[in-house]
Amino acid sequence: MNVYFHTFGCKANQYDTERVRQAFDSGGAVVVDDPALADLAVINSCTVTSESEVKLRRFVRHVAKTGCAQTIVMGCAAALDDGVIAALPGVRAVVANADPEAVLAAAGFPLSTTGRGGQGVRTRALLKIQDGCDEHCTFCATTLARGNNRSRPVEDLIEEARGLAGQHAEIVLTGVHIGTYGTDVRGASCVVRSLGQLVEALINAVPAVRFRLGSVEATEVDDTLARLLIEAPRHLAAHLHAPLQSGANRVLKRMGRHWYTAESYRARIEWLAERLPVFGLGADVIAGFPGETEDDHHASLTLLDALPFTYLHVFPFSVRPDAPAARLPGQLGPEVIRARARELREVGEAKVAAYRLRRRGQTADGVFSGRGRGKVEVLTEDYLTVYLGAEDWSGESRFAVEIN
Ligand code: SF4
Repeated sequence: MNVYFHTFGCKANQYDTERVRQAFDSGGAVVVDDPALADLAVINSCTVTSESEVKLRRFVRHVAKTGCAQTIVMGCAAALDDGVIAALPGVRAVVANADPEAVLAAAGFPLSTTGRGGQGVRTRALLKIQDGCDEHCTFCATTLARGNNRSRPVEDLIEEARGLAGQHAEIVLTGVHIGTYGTDVRGASCVVRSLGQLVEALINAVPAVRFRLGSVEATEVDDTLARLLIEAPRHLAAHLHAPLQSGANRVLKRMGRHWYTAESYRARIEWLAERLPVFGLGADVIAGFPGETEDDHHASLTLLDALPFTYLHVFPFSVRPDAPAARLPGQLGPEVIRARARELREVGEAKVAAYRLRRRGQTADGVFSGRGRGKVEVLTEDYLTVYLGAEDWSGESRFAVEIN
């Protein structure tokens, strides 16, 4: 059986797809990169914006047109499907979440015995440390799709990281809300109850790799994590992707993001930035959230401008029916949302250019991350991509690289 995979959404989804791909692979399926050659397409869906669901439906129709006989849709949007996805052309099954056994069963494919880990020959790997989230941000339906925070046992994670370290120079710690790692763990015997403690345990057990944090809330960077970022740059990449969403406290409140304010976010980031000579810093920001005033928007622009971001991910607000934000008063028109998104992106682009200029000519800790633009692609500790000619690459997976 030829199987084609496609993933929408975040790193947690990429990780889930990888596990399903492994399960098919171990069972003897052939993974193909063209849906026209496939007997089955497995699509991992995302529900973070209504736009992602529109893209999913379009993609499923496209796959059906290319001739692929059957499609399985799994993941977050699948978990919330009320029949719309199931009715799309070619859809054989809709599988809530991404359990490999459930997907194999839905495909009528024999179960194989696969373990976690072993994610193919790449030099960056993903390690999912938890799933789910206990929060209820009003723009997010992830909680509905993925349930409450569930941390994986530290012993399992160390074992998986050891396995991955054989093939990978960098391991990215992913999940839905990784800053809450360990808060659901009960029992006096467990000594690892926070993300910082987990990262320390992983570094001690697997010192040969560079770990990188996936998206983590700025105010959930505890003292242990901060110390590791500052003192152990070979083991923990100097990079945070810390969702901000808005720089206006009244908007954060309407978003249900009660655990930080613009001031506490700023204080944590500034404290870290003062202590990290090299610091890759990114954030997600939503443009035009319902009820956002011009003043609120300017508060976001001012905060973004003031902090040492090295890139931004800007999301124009889009109504998604499952999320409470769809019912909030003060919905803004598409032109206002677009204009605000454009202004936020302009700040982001200026930050990217300024940081690159500052780092140009400096040496960084590079990890081979693939090939692109006909060149070798290298990722630095502070999340810059450097392209090298094949002749300039020694073939090592981790090496000092000059930023160009
Ligand atoms: S913290 Fe908020 S945005 Fe993030 S997964 Fe949880 S509910 Fe969604």
